Amino acid sequence: MLQQDMTDEEFEPIFAKARELSDFFREIGPRYDQENTFAFPSIEKFKESGLGALSVPKEYGGLGGNLLQTSKVVTELSRGDSAITLAYNMHYIMVGMAGNLMSEDQNKYWLGRVTQGELMFGPFSEQRAGFSGLADMKAVPQPEGGWRLYGTKTWGTLCDAASIITTNATITDADGNLPEDFEERVNAEGFFIADFDIDRETLEGDGIRIKRTWDALGMHATGTHTIIFDGFYVPEDGYVCEWRTGAFGVLEWASLMFASIYLGMQQRVLEEAKAVLSKKTLGAVFGAVVASDVKVSSVGHIIDGIGDMATRVELSRRVLYQTCTEVMYGKDDLWPLELRFPYIGLAKTFIAENVLHMTKRAMSLVGGSSFRKGTIFERLYRDSAASMFQPLNADQSTTYIGEQLLAPEEVAS
Ligand SMILES: Cc1cc2nc3c(=O)[nH]c(=O)nc-3n(C[C@H](O)[C@H](O)[C@H](O)COP(=O)(O)OP(=O)(O)OC[C@H]3O[C@@H](n4cnc5c(N)ncnc54)[C@H](O)[C@@H]3O)c2cc1C
Repeated sequence: MLQQDMTDEEFEPIFAKARELSDFFREIGPRYDQENTFAFPSIEKFKESGLGALSVPKEYGGLGGNLLQTSKVVTELSRGDSAITLAYNMHYIMVGMAGNLMSEDQNKYWLGRVTQGELMFGPFSEQRAGFSGLADMKAVPQPEGGWRLYGTKTWGTLCDAASIITTNATITDADGNLPEDFEERVNAEGFFIADFDIDRETLEGDGIRIKRTWDALGMHATGTHTIIFDGFYVPEDGYVCEWRTGAFGVLEWASLMFASIYLGMQQRVLEEAKAVLSKKTLGAVFGAVVASDVKVSSVGHIIDGIGDMATRVELSRRVLYQTCTEVMYGKDDLWPLELRFPYIGLAKTFIAENVLHMTKRAMSLVGGSSFRKGTIFERLYRDSAASMFQPLNADQSTTYIGEQLLAPEEVAS
């Protein structure tokens, strides 16, 4: 486990920096949503803030922020702009996951680079099956040692800013054949870390390139492009560990950081809905309320709607912070081992359900003007849809929990 021992006093000025950066993200966010590109000016500001080293232990030159403190920073940034923050969230996820799996020497080297301002990203998902699919990407062993990677990763969030790549690939035989046996294939899947040295004009590197494919319903500023590996060399010291067993043990860094993104989005939905609905006046109306002058803040379903949203934000905050705290203090040891992974994921799936509910409700309460392009509400509605996909996915979590509970003898063993 990484040593993350930032005190509350040390956290205060860090959070103030996050607030400043969040304001900047809020200011530039609409432009990059409209232009449908990565928010390039955010790179310098993010690096300047020093927040990239937030969760890197002090012994490697970082700030030593823990899971909860990192979650709070991600939420605050996301309150400003969730799409831009989702990009940098990949950095926090990979620092947390890789940092907890790498050797001492690897941590010194790679996390040391992070403290110098470098950013990490993690394209794992592939076309055939996303995060849960065993990698079709091949790592072919080389006579001189190390591997050459061949394959395509379809989700490369933060590729426009990162200079360190982490990914998974299945180690083949010398001729590039994947193991035929399923168990062997699972064990052969490796977790790798390497330099992502890309010419930012041509988008080409040595055996690797970015293909600009990102064009989606929402989360435009994440720059989630396709990464093509064509003989990309990873030296032996770029091997971190077996991917599946490794990743499942530290998945809180992915799942709870995604949850933090959507908690920040929930806070923003509430803030924006309050701002509009506390002021809006309908004038003379003839409908559910019949009156000569109606302020919407006095209409029953609008009062309830805001109250309902605020309740969801507060419950989500409690679920997320409590989950972070339980994991940090090892209370997750009290959960059945088999359920650790989906139980951590519950915070994300709960928050995802709530943010989806809230973006829809906010539009309905604000009324038709929220449907017009460029309003914050239509944007939040589109962006919130991304919460359905990132791990853990709600359908798979409930299936997983149900399966385990219907096989009690295995849970007990
Ligand atoms: C904005 C955004 C940015 C992203 N950035 C990244 C990134 O940087 N890196 C990255 O690696 N990924 C990234 N992702 C990808 C994301 O993690 C994938 O959506 C995820 O891996 C799921 O894959 P999929 O959506 O392709 O669905 P699939 O995996 O193809 O799933 C299709 C269906 O099959 C079900 N299913 C899949 N696997 C199983 C299983 N084992 N058991 C039962 N049912 C199953 C699913 O629930 C779903 O209903 C990003 C996604 C979004 C929306």
